[in-house]
Amino acid sequence: MLLTQRTLQTIHGYCTRNRRLMEESKTAGCFSCGETFTASDVREWVRERDAATGAPNGETAKCPRCGFGAVLPSAAPITLTPELFRAMQSFWFKGTH
Ligand SMILES: [Zn+2]
Repeated sequence: MLLTQRTLQTIHGYCTRNRRLMEESKTAGCFSCGETFTASDVREWVRERDAATGAPNGETAKCPRCGFGAVLPSAAPITLTPELFRAMQSFWFKGTH
């Protein structure tokens, strides 16, 4: 997979409002800490709200290891590799993490 900026932005979509994808996943990986774990290890969820209306708008998995909402479900149409985690980490957390 060619990891262009556009690809990394698309992949980022799988780590937010991903409760349904997580429920279809066996495993998941966090690109904040680089850990992979069983999808059912996720116990905490961020309740997202629509920015304009404040209405509930999906739930985002929090990493059971580091607590960041940077969890990529295995059911997403991507392959969870260390290379992908590194690319995502340097793109999204550059200078802040
Ligand atoms: Zn993590």
